[in-house]
Amino acid sequence: MAQKGVQIITVEPGSLAEEAGIRPGDTLLEIHGEAVLDQLNYQFLITREDEAGMLLQRPDGSTFKAYVENGGAGIGVDLAQDEVKVCKQNCVFCFVHQMPKGFRKSLYLKDEDVRLSFLYGHFTTLSSSDDGELDRIVRERLSPIHVSVHATEPAARIRVVGNPREGDILRKIDRLLAGGIDLHTQAVVAPGLNDGAVWQRTLDDLWARRREGRGSVLSLSCVPVGLTAHRENLPDVQDVDPAFARDWVARWTPEVRRYAKANDGEPWLLLADEWFTRAGIEVPGRAFYSKSWAQLENGVGLVRRFLEHSRRFIQSPKAKGFAGRKVLLLTGASFAPTLRRIATELNRAVGSHLRVAATKNFTFGETVTVAGLLCGEDLKYAAHADRDSKGGRADWVDAVVVPSASLRTHTGPTDQYTLRGVVVREEGTFLDDLTLPELATDLGVPTVPSGANLSHLLDHLEAADRGAFRGGALGKTFHTAGLNLPQGAYNP
Ligand code: SF4
Repeated sequence: MAQKGVQIITVEPGSLAEEAGIRPGDTLLEIHGEAVLDQLNYQFLITREDEAGMLLQRPDGSTFKAYVENGGAGIGVDLAQDEVKVCKQNCVFCFVHQMPKGFRKSLYLKDEDVRLSFLYGHFTTLSSSDDGELDRIVRERLSPIHVSVHATEPAARIRVVGNPREGDILRKIDRLLAGGIDLHTQAVVAPGLNDGAVWQRTLDDLWARRREGRGSVLSLSCVPVGLTAHRENLPDVQDVDPAFARDWVARWTPEVRRYAKANDGEPWLLLADEWFTRAGIEVPGRAFYSKSWAQLENGVGLVRRFLEHSRRFIQSPKAKGFAGRKVLLLTGASFAPTLRRIATELNRAVGSHLRVAATKNFTFGETVTVAGLLCGEDLKYAAHADRDSKGGRADWVDAVVVPSASLRTHTGPTDQYTLRGVVVREEGTFLDDLTLPELATDLGVPTVPSGANLSHLLDHLEAADRGAFRGGALGKTFHTAGLNLPQGAYNP
């Protein structure tokens, strides 16, 4: 993680930094004699003592010292974005390797950064974290971290991550736990690869590392592998079909409850929703998920939470805002049955006319059923097909809704970090570069992102009533929940 200082982009007028003679363009090299590595490290160093002794460099290369009595708080500077670190693994199910050709370059970059894991809950295999970085995590108390374990048995892990140097994940995990860092963990499960005895050992090893107090494995989720139709020249990996998913649900659902009982009632072993959607089985009730919805962003409990939130919303006065609206909701095949149920309940309650179309993913292949990987052209095709089925009228619906999870802005929650090759844009862009305003223009009706729930959706439709659907800065016009998810992340 070595960087030669961090550049200062802006200095707040009247701030402590300005008083100390610091200017935009200077580079912050050291605080208290320690090299400043990045923004997180800056936060750690600047808040450590009441007075910060800093070494800075002017753009002409000259250096100077500044002392700021900041009382352990910020000094009024904005720092340059940090570059995201790149992954060193070669996972057999890596989404990036399964991408069709021809997408924008940045989508083929494999990012893996423990700082994003701490800040935003992204999963890391820890491949880009050497011992020095693990010690830094401990020192700066970057806890909890989200770790993709996949398998604790070294030979199996090497098979999964495709990197002979990364078999011993428990060594890294134990170093973090010993330093008091908590971990949420996951295993992406593929039949014949890391299920059976390999999975059982993973479960046993991680459960043995759950403890009271700091330095504990807080949860372990299992997620079914996701394969696209683009696996040329990649190792054979068996997909999770409905029969495998049904067996997995039958075998492990009782175990979730057993582990929860042994964990003071708090679910510790977590099953991703996709096991249930692939098996065609109703997701379990609220008690099956942790009180804090741990690993929600990883697809654990999203369906249950959506159902609960929707049913409360339908009882609320705000729901009447849907009355009379004729709306087409596009989503992936895995979430469509759930959304259809809720749309039916809402229609009955308030007299709306919401319809759901399960959108096929022609870009990645029909085995990909999550909403987050739908491309603009897939959604466009589904909307046109729906219009044709209704007689081709231009005003066949009042509005079309696309999943927020299928949109990226690149200026969303991870704007503290930059990926090499990424062009910053604020309007919503699908994976295939079609933008939300372009789709709206093509369809000729307001086209809005779904948001995370029905309340968000109504806000978006009302914004469209005022003409906002034509685009602009997406984050300013619409709720940002669900935008900018890491590619490949499961999300309905
Ligand atoms: S799945 Fe993640 S960790 Fe594995 S190779 Fe791809 S980017 Fe790297």
